[in-house]
Amino acid sequence: MTVPPAPDTEVMVDELGRLVEHESPTGDVVRLDALADVLVAQWEDVGATAVRHTVDEVGSHLELRWAGPPGTPSDVAPVLLVGHYDTVHDVGTLERNPWRVDDDGRAWGPGTQDMKSGLVIARHALAQLMAAGVPVARPVVALLTADEEVGSVSSRALIEGHARASAFALVFEASTASGALKTQRKGVGLWTLTVHGRAAHAGQRFFDGCNANVALADVLPEVAGLSDRARGTTVNVGVLRGGTRANVVAARADAVLDVRFTEPDESDRVAAALTELDVAEPARLEVSGGVNRPAMQRTPETVQLYERARACARELGFDLEEATAGGASDGNFTSAVGTPTLDGLGGVGDGLHTDEEYVYVTSLPQRAALLAALLSGYDAT
Ligand SMILES: [Zn+2]
Repeated sequence: MTVPPAPDTEVMVDELGRLVEHESPTGDVVRLDALADVLVAQWEDVGATAVRHTVDEVGSHLELRWAGPPGTPSDVAPVLLVGHYDTVHDVGTLERNPWRVDDDGRAWGPGTQDMKSGLVIARHALAQLMAAGVPVARPVVALLTADEEVGSVSSRALIEGHARASAFALVFEASTASGALKTQRKGVGLWTLTVHGRAAHAGQRFFDGCNANVALADVLPEVAGLSDRARGTTVNVGVLRGGTRANVVAARADAVLDVRFTEPDESDRVAAALTELDVAEPARLEVSGGVNRPAMQRTPETVQLYERARACARELGFDLEEATAGGASDGNFTSAVGTPTLDGLGGVGDGLHTDEEYVYVTSLPQRAALLAALLSGYDAT
């Protein structure tokens, strides 16, 4: 395997700064489109052709097709690169966490770790391979989507369709803080329990009412008890809302649950238990929601991909660990349709989803070189 020379750190850092200074919260179509224009131009620069899949009130999911240096086969399944350019950060976050590089080599700013560094890394790997001019094993399709941070509702079908047609998927979400890749991710379910009671004046008609708050509180111990530490299942009662005023018997109460699971049948167990919950009459319970992202399984093919990445890293002079993530990503979708998936190939840093988000600048060229090595020689057949 020939590893092309590593790209210039300074160039990559400047490019990351440019992406970070384009704030791009999910749902802000004007800002997302402005960043999409920048990204398309950058990827066209490395020889990719762009298709924009535009969705009302969401923005555009970018499909970037890269045929590889001359001589790269065109009649084989491509490698799918998966990323997103929306962030969880509202406009103005840049004032609290401005773009800057400190003396410890950390690049700060909203979206540095999740996942604008990943976008820079992926593009520079392709640039590196183009510069080397040596054919690679497979062409590449990159999907850069605009709604990952709200569950990829409008991009899911696109991601799954491309995953089915691809040899394997590489996801450029952040690595763990120590740089480990993610070979397994928990699945996520979102459920809401709504109790309908009956409102009444708390002073004059108290006994005519039916208190939804009390009825909901009654079932919560059972809900919390659905967690199973040994099997890695958690049921978090994250939000409670109920009633309107102290002097009114509460007519309605809601509990919003976040359920995480590693084993697929655990989501079925929790779903079945939730639908069997009962509240005392005349209160009525309504259960809504379901699985948002299936679990990303650590399959033998995924382990094989990881081992290959690890061998490439060793040649480049560093070690690469693997880890299980509690958070979900679009890698959960690619894995669930049976495509070998390796996640966490983005920048190494910490603080994602907070105002203290950063990546180490040294991880940018290192990870780009890793991807270039992985794409240059790996056939995965
Ligand atoms: Zn992300």
